[in-house]
Amino acid sequence: MHVSSVARTDTRGLHEECGVVGFYGVEGATSHAFLSLQSLQHRGQQGCGIAVVLPDGSLKLHKGAGLVKEVFHQQEINDMPGRNCIGHVRYPTTNVGGPENIQPFLFARMENPFALAHNGNIVNAAQVKTYLEKLGHLFHSTSDSELFAYLVGSGLHGDDWESAICGAARLLDGAYATVILTRDKLFACRDKYGFRPLSLGKLGEGYVVASETCALDSVGATFIRDIEPGELLCIDQTGIHSSFIARKGAHCMCAMEYIYFARPDSVIEGSSVHGFRRKSGTLLQKEHPAQADLVTCVPESSMSAAIGYAEAARLPLEMGLVKNMYVARTFIQPTQSMRDVGVKMKLSAVRSIVGGKRVVVIDDSIVRGTTSRIIVQMLRDAGATEVHMRIASPPYAWPCYYGIDTGTKEQLLAGGRTLDQIREYIGADSLEYLSVQALYEAAGRTQLCTACFDGNYPTDLYQE
Ligand code: SF4
Repeated sequence: MHVSSVARTDTRGLHEECGVVGFYGVEGATSHAFLSLQSLQHRGQQGCGIAVVLPDGSLKLHKGAGLVKEVFHQQEINDMPGRNCIGHVRYPTTNVGGPENIQPFLFARMENPFALAHNGNIVNAAQVKTYLEKLGHLFHSTSDSELFAYLVGSGLHGDDWESAICGAARLLDGAYATVILTRDKLFACRDKYGFRPLSLGKLGEGYVVASETCALDSVGATFIRDIEPGELLCIDQTGIHSSFIARKGAHCMCAMEYIYFARPDSVIEGSSVHGFRRKSGTLLQKEHPAQADLVTCVPESSMSAAIGYAEAARLPLEMGLVKNMYVARTFIQPTQSMRDVGVKMKLSAVRSIVGGKRVVVIDDSIVRGTTSRIIVQMLRDAGATEVHMRIASPPYAWPCYYGIDTGTKEQLLAGGRTLDQIREYIGADSLEYLSVQALYEAAGRTQLCTACFDGNYPTDLYQE
């Protein structure tokens, strides 16, 4: 177990939902996976792993707790030669389970080995698992991946890989992007709603799939296209074959991917993440201007929105808050007091910039409110005369069931509180949020999952 790491220390109570990569026909696939997983590190820091097809046709897996650079050293990479592999970075989405849930998982199907990794959350996993347990199957982890793999390996849905994967995917409801590696094929599948992004690229004569386009860029791959909602891609020696696990329905890309999760240099379904955030900042200023002297962001995720806001307001964008890049993850503990310490270790206000000034702070979201409350106080302590908080997303009032660890509705600051109660809690002079309409306008699309803002969940939640 590695514990001394430096990582993105998310103190707001909102955690990413893992990331996957897959390589087919690429020389040195493991070292490419190592690089691409590092570029997806923001999506999960608890653990990571890579499974590769060795030259003798067997599958080899290495995984562990910690950052990619802690789990993989030159020796591990050298010991995993091959042209086809899959990889995963993990944040625990279900709040349970430890290293046994780190992916990928290795399984066998009629003596044929396969590896599987996925991100997201299967909303009917408990029901399907209970059913299978009654039939006598024992699960070794709490991961949805094991369930997915069991269904693939069970032979219930046909002998060929494609039928087996399609059959499994049809039984499972929810949000996922899955990669499956066999001796001679790479499969990539996206849930029918398209909650989680998954892109396809070309690298030399081979192919790459990854949760975000920044992972394609990191290895010099050329973007080909996004994998569509409900699409199952099979990549083998004969090329790429596409089929669908379900008919196209509502397309519910997670709005938080644009707002917060994805890296700003990624492009999700044709929209630049930075471009989206900048536009959301512009729209936020139009909806909620503030009388102020300067604009600042909460580094770094709200930087793009702050650029848009400052430009629209014709105010200077200043570095009113700075971030300590080197705070160890071990400082961030799951108690309120330790979370408070974590924020103070991570951020500080610049007195020479905010002293005597009316400051607009742009943040991408407020989840539990801890960070916002401390930031407001920090700015006041550094001499800001007024602090106006502007949030580049609507109030986050409903828990996510699709792979984002947010806690319960009661733990969400906007869950059941008025705007004024929230403003009072964080201690700002004023507080305003972006509207849901502006969110769609910034994304340039008419369909998104916005359930955490409006409670309109695109799937059944299977809570009975
Ligand atoms: S509920 Fe929110 S965080 Fe969860 S998938 Fe929908 S938009 Fe994303």
